[in-house]
Amino acid sequence: MGTAYKLNCKHCTYSRDVFLGIGFSHMYLSSILPIIKNTEARQRITAFISDESAKHDSYEALFVCGKCNNLHNELFLQIKSNSDRYEINYNCSRCSEPLPSEPLEELSPTTTVLTCPNCGKKKLDITSYMDWD
Ligand SMILES: [Zn+2]
Ligand SMILES: [Zn+2]
Repeated sequence: MGTAYKLNCKHCTYSRDVFLGIGFSHMYLSSILPIIKNTEARQRITAFISDESAKHDSYEALFVCGKCNNLHNELFLQIKSNSDRYEINYNCSRCSEPLPSEPLEELSPTTTVLTCPNCGKKKLDITSYMDWD
């Protein structure tokens, strides 16, 4: 259901694997909960599990730091209920800048332009190599 990508920089040795999309564990809030490490986020999500009006949108995504271009392959999660809403947010592990709330859900080898977080040059080579679940 999801897709795995390999990112490579032609200018330096930067290389990494990224997994994007929806997996089986994203279908229920109760199965997302064990993935969440942040205590405050866990408490927020737990409150929605017992709320029957809660609907969520969740997938593995790529968050690109707007300040230092660092790439974060993290869980995207947005929950809405009749009385409340919640969206998960992250800070960049390298420069502490809040990451954008709109992550990339898919990468296109031809049109997605990512700056190398290591050397700062454009653009990373993107190869999609398999589906995962
Ligand atoms: Zn950053
Ligand atoms: Zn590079």
